[in-house]
Parts: sequence; C-alpha cells; structure tokens
Amino acid sequence: MRPEDFFRPDILAASAYHVPDATGFIKLDAMENPYDWPPEMVEAWLDHLRRAHPNRYPDPQAPALKQALRRHAQVPEGMEILLGNGSDEIIQILLMALVGRNHATVLAPQPTFVMYQEIARWLNLDFVGVPLQADFGLDRAAMLEAIARHRPEIIFLAYPNNPTGNLFDAALMEEIIRRTPGLVVVDEAYAPFAQATFMDRLETFDNLLVMRTLSKLGLAGLRLGFLTGRPEWLRHFDKLRLPYNINILTQLSAEFALDHAEVFERQTAAIRAERDRLFQALSLLPGVQAFPSAANFILLQVPGAGKVFEALKRRGILVKNLSPAGGPLSDCLRVTVGTPEENQAFLDALRTVLLRQIPADGSERA
Ligand SMILES: *Cc1c(COP(=O)(O)O)cnc(C)c1O
Repeated sequence: MRPEDFFRPDILAASAYHVPDATGFIKLDAMENPYDWPPEMVEAWLDHLRRAHPNRYPDPQAPALKQALRRHAQVPEGMEILLGNGSDEIIQILLMALVGRNHATVLAPQPTFVMYQEIARWLNLDFVGVPLQADFGLDRAAMLEAIARHRPEIIFLAYPNNPTGNLFDAALMEEIIRRTPGLVVVDEAYAPFAQATFMDRLETFDNLLVMRTLSKLGLAGLRLGFLTGRPEWLRHFDKLRLPYNINILTQLSAEFALDHAEVFERQTAAIRAERDRLFQALSLLPGVQAFPSAANFILLQVPGAGKVFEALKRRGILVKNLSPAGGPLSDCLRVTVGTPEENQAFLDALRTVLLRQIPADGSERA
C-alpha cells in the first residue's frame, strides 16, 4: 500500500500545523511569557531535578503535582483533576471519547481556538461553528438555535477567547450551560491574565468542565494542561489518557514552579500592566483598531495586515497574521504582550511601517 492509498484524502490534502522559525526574532506570536526565571531560582530548580529517576516510569497519577495544582487553581473540594500533555492533549482526550458515536457533534463559537475544530476533523466528528457578533460577543440567538438543532455532545467556550481576547458574557455562558444537553468545556488558558473564572461554578452545573494550562502562565515548554470537573465524568475520560503522559521532568518542574508562585504572580502582573499600556498606545495609532483584551495578547485590525505583517518581520518582529483566516479576522494581526522593550520595539516598527504606507505626497494623513 502506498501512502496515497493509506491516508484519507483530507489528510493527504492538509498542510501540517506550521510553526515559523523564530530564531533571531522578537517573538510576539505565541502567547509566551517573555520573562526568564531569576538565576537563584534556576539553580534551585536544577537541584530539585536531582531527585528524578529517568530510568523509571513517572507516577501515572502524579498526586503531588495534582495537589499543587488544586491549591494553585483553587479547585473546589470534591472535584477531580485530569492531567494532559498540554491542554491540546486534553481536547484530544475529550473528543476521542466521542469517536464511534453516530454523528457526534462538537460546537464552538467562531473565531476561536483552532484546535477544537482541527482535532474534531481528524477524528471525523461533526463540527458546528457559530459566528460571534461583530463585537466578538456570543450571539445568544444563534448559539441557542444551533444547540437546539444540533444537540452537540461537547461545546467549547474559551474564556477569554483566543484570538479575540475578550471574555464572553458570563450570564449568557450560564444560560448555554443550562440549555445544552451535552458537556460545556470552559477553556481558561488565559486565567492568569483574566481574573475571571468558572471554576467556582463547577458545583452548580453537572455538565460543566473547566480546562486550564500552565503554558500561558510561563511554562509553555513543560507541556502541562489540566481538566477539572466531577469525578463521574473525569473517571471515564481518564481511561482514554495514556498512562505516562506527564513525564518526570514536567512533574518535578511544575511542582517546583508552583512552589514559587510569587515569581509568576509578579511576571503576570507586569504583563497585565504592559497589555494595558500597549492597548492605549495601539488605540492612538491612526487606522489601527485594537480590541480590548483580558488575555496576554491583543487583536488588532489594520488595513493591509498581510503587508504589515511582512514588513514587521523584515524589522525582526514576529506577530501572528490572522488575515488568511478571512471573515471577521480579515486584516487582523495578533500580538503577544512581551517585555516593555519588546512592546516598544513592536510599536516603533508598526508606526514606521504604517507611515511608509502613506502615498508619497502624504495626502492620506495630516
Ligand atoms: C494556547 C491555548 C491552549 C493550548 O494550551 P497548551 O496547554 O499549551 O496545549 C488551549 N486553549 C486556548 C484557548 C489557547 O489559547
């Protein structure tokens, strides 16, 4: 059998998830925390790793790490935790549970985090995308209508949403949770920047699950996400998890990091302050529309975004070009909040690029 006969046509036709080479760039494209650890903390971490036994399999349940996460995320008493190799893997576990059901359906507003649809597609599940309103809020009528019509098994609500950055209306989310026959997964990847959560509503709704990750907090390289919810749900999802999905270095490093929570609190507070400064500065640029964000990135709409993206790249600054997605993301870029110096370099470059776009006689702008 040739590969052409082996793979489904949609897999053959697809292009791989593309991560651009960022060597030498100011990297503002992937919602990473830009801050390194203080040198003493790095030394203490390396010391902590001495207790690892790489010859042994890791503890499949990682009880110490779960305990640390429970405290860190204030997971309500009685709720269970499931660990994933990033929350991407948790999305995969959740959707894998639906494979083999007749017309299992996954629903999410759009635009949103692309992995919900990507993974649903590889698993041959039906995906329903419900357009957000022009202000990127949930469209109540359209959501409720789609829920009644498609009766989705799982709804994903990213809170705040990626790539738009806004928090959906919480009362409307509660209405959606009440009105859907299936599960609602509230994806709180940006919790460290949002100061809003559905964690405390787990006790109220028996079809709610809350997903978190340590990636955006500042541990993207460790690959650790987690799902919280009722044991009666998580017990079964846990069977679909590969037993040793969280390696020993990640377990030890995450425990260590959560023991130094104050370092991450300082860093995320600095990022939140910079986000607000960056938003103000972007709002003052003529022709640029910046959308308010509760995350560590800002979505902006700027005429000729594709060209602006390339011009920024030539100046050594890498952001995310969302324009190819089209629709409401036409002419949109997404910039991750970096250090004050990185943000300033981005703003200066953007200002220069926008000025160059003015015709030679300068007629477009006074
Ligand atoms: C970044 C992101 C994730 C993925 O996080 P990992 O834990 O790094 O896999 C999940 N959901 C949303 C909305 C994100 O933006």
